[in-house]
Amino acid sequence: MTEHLKSHYEKPAELYDGLRLHQNENTAGCSPRVLEALRGLTRENMGFYPPYSAVTATAARYFGVPADHVGLVNGLDEGIMGAAIAYLRPSAGSGVVPEAIVPEPAFEIFRFDTAVAGGRLVQVMPKPDFAFALDEVLAAITPATRVVFVTNPNNPTGVSVPFDAIRTIARRLPKDAIVFVDEAYAEFAGRSFIPELPAFPNVVVGRTFSKAFGLAAIRIGAVVGAPDAIDPIRYVVPVYSVNIAAVVALEAALGDMDYLRDYLRQVSESKALLYAACQRLGLKYWQSDANFVLVRVGDRVADVVEFAKNHGVFLRNRSSEPGCEGSLRFATGIVEHTKRGIAVLEEALCAVR
Ligand SMILES: *Cc1c(COP(=O)(O)O)cnc(C)c1O
Repeated sequence: MTEHLKSHYEKPAELYDGLRLHQNENTAGCSPRVLEALRGLTRENMGFYPPYSAVTATAARYFGVPADHVGLVNGLDEGIMGAAIAYLRPSAGSGVVPEAIVPEPAFEIFRFDTAVAGGRLVQVMPKPDFAFALDEVLAAITPATRVVFVTNPNNPTGVSVPFDAIRTIARRLPKDAIVFVDEAYAEFAGRSFIPELPAFPNVVVGRTFSKAFGLAAIRIGAVVGAPDAIDPIRYVVPVYSVNIAAVVALEAALGDMDYLRDYLRQVSESKALLYAACQRLGLKYWQSDANFVLVRVGDRVADVVEFAKNHGVFLRNRSSEPGCEGSLRFATGIVEHTKRGIAVLEEALCAVR
């Protein structure tokens, strides 16, 4: 466990002129029904503060929970920041610095948001092949622990966390602490911790419509959990942070499950294609339950990513993340895009020695 505080998140470069396989987006974009719905917006819709009850009820049905268990947020990033501020901000005079436990490698935002909130980051280093470090996480729990951030399936590895690990952590936490289960990729895994929430009132599940539903630009996500656990997050999120376009887009997206199913089918096919390519090319990769795959290309990773970029395919170098030395992350979504990505990766490996 080491402490590593950095004060801000460096956004990936703004690369739009090429094939974006570096941010795990749906590269086909959203359902066409979303655009139809947006075209239906009126001047009054723009002029009035947005209504949330109906769309929250729709989202709650999708998640299979009562509506008071759902808080919509301006992207899951806002939900994570809300959780950090709600749970990790030191309270005046208490003398306690709240602690966040982050099993690595992890979504980088956890680090930054913990620092922004004024909490202390406790990193747990990865085990071989990213087997979940349950014993090490349990050993890191102290009376000051307030949040354990778990991403399931994990980003950047695509590896799933056993539910039993989440249950065990939740049972061991001090009062007033939560497990924040980031399920940005739950649709691809086909399972969620949400059905377990009635038995685990100290677990908050974070969800996003950016990835599987192709709504990354419109910014819509949710925190799901017992009202006592999510209310502190709701209190710190600005009241109208979700705009009317996101409201309308979410209703339309959740009304088109065929679109989601088609994307999920393509993701499975894409992963199979990339795995086969890695086997052919002698590259180590990790079986992924998400819409991306972590691939180890070794010391030349920076050059491979640069070559691919110069050939119009953006991949993400993840080699600075714990356990990910020499590795890049490749989004495996739309089959045609995956094929192009694989072709360029293969060219890069020949060109870069
Ligand atoms: C993409 C991603 C998010 C961010 O989702 P937004 O709703 O776009 O803010 C959160 N967590 C993880 C693990 C992600 O990969």
